[in-house]
Amino acid sequence: MQVYGLVGNPVGHSLSPPMHEAAYDELGLDARYVTFEPDPDALAAALRGADALGIRGLNVTIPFKRDALELVEPDALAARIGAVNTVDLSGAEATGHNTDAAGAIRALRDHDVALDGADAVVVGAGGAGRAVAFGLSDAGASVSVANRTVVTARDLADEVPGAAGHDLVALPDLLADADVLVNATSVGMEEDASPVPAEALHGDLAVLDAVYRPLETRLLRDAREAGARTVDGAWMLLYQGVEAFERWTGERAPVDVMNETLRSRL
Ligand code: NAP
Repeated sequence: MQVYGLVGNPVGHSLSPPMHEAAYDELGLDARYVTFEPDPDALAAALRGADALGIRGLNVTIPFKRDALELVEPDALAARIGAVNTVDLSGAEATGHNTDAAGAIRALRDHDVALDGADAVVVGAGGAGRAVAFGLSDAGASVSVANRTVVTARDLADEVPGAAGHDLVALPDLLADADVLVNATSVGMEEDASPVPAEALHGDLAVLDAVYRPLETRLLRDAREAGARTVDGAWMLLYQGVEAFERWTGERAPVDVMNETLRSRL
């Protein structure tokens, strides 16, 4: 039996185990997906132990995504983003990857959102914001980053080719001519709030919210009412998992089954 898993703290509410195990069942793979909650200072020992036990791959989440970068050989994208969310332990050397970027890009493309040449606005410059900004830029979009802490937005923009960093108050101006908006802040998760003024949204926008609990955030509701195309955060969660699954197993992921399983639990 192959073992895969998730390392984070806490991981109790993770949707990754049912999503990945539904895929193993669908393809008849003898595999399991297990969650692990090491102490915050025990990531190195956890990764060594996982490797020694023959665990083939691990997802990594809060608070370990940045630390993992130092403990495995990151690929170029994970190094640029500065965070690893997927570790491949199948080779001689543990390698680190970031599937959040591809997760966001595949979520948008799956909804027929054209990215090459698009004007894209990313709200948030934490882990998700960094992944989305690099992903959009690599997909050919021109990227503006807006963040509550403006210096973080500017620092990120300095690293993303052609990008600019802004304060949140710039959002109405930035969005006036934009094609794509991604919320990569946690706003909307705890409360019925949006990081973007509803009046700044319009019908020519495609809006992805990385937040997936709730599925329809205030931002997505406002966007729908403004006539924008909306993509909820479960699509990004789905495709980051699909990318990890395909990397680890070498099999084409049963996307529909994974999607149904995920949505049945949200
Ligand atoms: P993070 O690194 O902690 O970054 C949090 C971001 O949210 C920062 O930009 C922060 O701004 C901003 N923020 C927090 N509270 C705010 C507020 N009250 N007003 C304005 N901005 C605020 O977190 P993360 O890992 O990037 O995750 C961000 C969100 O994305 C979470 O909801 C997470 O669940 C979601 N996510 C979803 C997926 C998916 O697959 N769907 C994947 C990854 C993350 P400051 O810099 O000013 O603090």
